Amino acid sequence: MRYSQLLITTTKEMPAEAEVISHQLLLRAGFIRKLTSGLYTYLPLGLAALRKVEKIVREEMNRAGAQEILMPMVQPADLWEESGRWKQYGPELLRFKDRHQRDCCLGPTHEEVVTDVARREIHSYRQLPVNLYQIQTKFRDEIRPRFGLMRGREFVMKDAYSFDVNEEGAEASYRRMRDAYNRIFKRCGLEFRAVEADSGSIGGSFSHEFMVLAKTGEDTLVICQSCDYAANLEKAKAAAPVRTENGDAMQDCVKVATPGLKKVDKVAEFLGLDTRQVIKTMIYLADGELVAVLVRGDREVQPVKLKNLLNATDVELADDDTVWQKTKLPVGYIGPVGLPIKFVADQEVMLMGNAATGANEKGFHLTGVNPGRDFTPALTGDLRQVTAEDRCPLCGGALRLTEGIEVGHIFKLGTKYSAAMNAVFQDTDGQEKVMIMGCYGIGVSRVVAAAIEQNHDANGIIFPLPLAPFQVILLNLDLKNAAITAAAEQLHNELEAAGVEVLYDDRDERPGSKFKDADLLGIPYRVTVGKGVEKDGTVELRARRSGETVMLPLAQATAEIAAKIKAELAAAG
Ligand code: ATP
Ligand code: MG
Repeated sequence: MRYSQLLITTTKEMPAEAEVISHQLLLRAGFIRKLTSGLYTYLPLGLAALRKVEKIVREEMNRAGAQEILMPMVQPADLWEESGRWKQYGPELLRFKDRHQRDCCLGPTHEEVVTDVARREIHSYRQLPVNLYQIQTKFRDEIRPRFGLMRGREFVMKDAYSFDVNEEGAEASYRRMRDAYNRIFKRCGLEFRAVEADSGSIGGSFSHEFMVLAKTGEDTLVICQSCDYAANLEKAKAAAPVRTENGDAMQDCVKVATPGLKKVDKVAEFLGLDTRQVIKTMIYLADGELVAVLVRGDREVQPVKLKNLLNATDVELADDDTVWQKTKLPVGYIGPVGLPIKFVADQEVMLMGNAATGANEKGFHLTGVNPGRDFTPALTGDLRQVTAEDRCPLCGGALRLTEGIEVGHIFKLGTKYSAAMNAVFQDTDGQEKVMIMGCYGIGVSRVVAAAIEQNHDANGIIFPLPLAPFQVILLNLDLKNAAITAAAEQLHNELEAAGVEVLYDDRDERPGSKFKDADLLGIPYRVTVGKGVEKDGTVELRARRSGETVMLPLAQATAEIAAKIKAELAAAG
């Protein structure tokens, strides 16, 4: 492909509206153009990168036995009434009326439509299991669509839905998708982790988010350096707790004056203790009700874990005034002994001995406090936030905290939609049963952005080879030089004939701007045809990522480049 014949318009200027690097580079490299908020046109290079992701996704979905379909983007409200989501779904669902005043929406996801397909087409256990998928444009009226392809209003998603006769079948379908997702993101050449996500009331590990590791990610992840363990910080399990004792023998509870000392570190210092020997009491509002939460003094409460333990929909820290008005308890001096409100404790607190804690009286703390003897929480569990100093809960290895971008999400749905919409089949015993479902999404267009977030430098994009719109950019440094141009044309033809995806920069531009554009576009290999051709019959091959260069004899260049690319793609899977 000739650069001069492709619509590529690059810019040096940093686009003012773009806050994240992938958005900036996609605009500067001429991959996408904004139509209006959250809506983008893919120009040829952007579309080429998108198609690369789609191809990998499609191949792996097919390999996993899923069948491709294509559902409408416009959906009738009736189906959403059946599932109950017409009212539940927030303003992200774009609702409108057609000319007959029928309520419709633009599909943000397709559970309703696919369940309707299943209940019409599937009647017998013989037709199951089935996994149906599509690659399609979704619309979600996101409140702040500001990160380009990372969070558009319109975006391309691969969504798949499995239907099974029973739980075991559904779990097998789930595992098949999890394996397929691992292959997909590996083949994309991305550094990623599958993390356990909120599985809601289902329990078990039947929801995973696939995260591309990149500094600009919106989620913080805890990942093990030694094993596969990865979790969202909000969910990351603390390793098994150990005892923190202050002396062997159980002491008596003693009230000590601690005037003006509200902070754990100050109290500990005053009492000559370590912060690990102080019980910290935090007051939360859980669905409007005050709940005290105990953690060891050197720990922080993780609100999502708290929310899950309490089975609450909303938890937030209560402010001091609210606590005082409702309980007359002085924040900073609150503790579990004789506490008149409900309290829960982190598991670690139950292993503390002779601890210090607030006395529920302004200016006083208690020492020699022992769980069990002096207080009993309503509930105990893993409530603290994990830190980089913690060890892996599975293997004891060192942990790392990093940011991640959600590119995929798999979920065992159960019968939420099939029961509501009556998607039933006749089982082997002649009984009518409800199908068990799973749903599996990949943000195809977000993958392109995430790849750039993870792979770039000051000069531009550094595409992983499997996602690059072209594998090689071939630079002709002097169009007026007959020998150079003849060699470049020859290489262009040879590379194309060898199946290499090559963009031939045949523009009448200064070498400097050709080098700059080549870096900006992020094409993994650059072949430069210049003076070397005349001098000793060589061309230069440079890897975009490492910057390594080698001189290759013109006659061998095509074979060497083709072999290199083949080997690299094979290594990605
Ligand atoms: P997020 O938490 O990022 O809003 P989500 O959990 O709502 O995403 P899902 O319903 O799980 O998204 O959709 C499946 C996948 O679609 C996500 O994992 C993500 O990669 C992608 N995706 C979701 N919303 C957008 C968006 N606005 N723009 C681009 N991709 C998106
Ligand atoms: Mg999700």
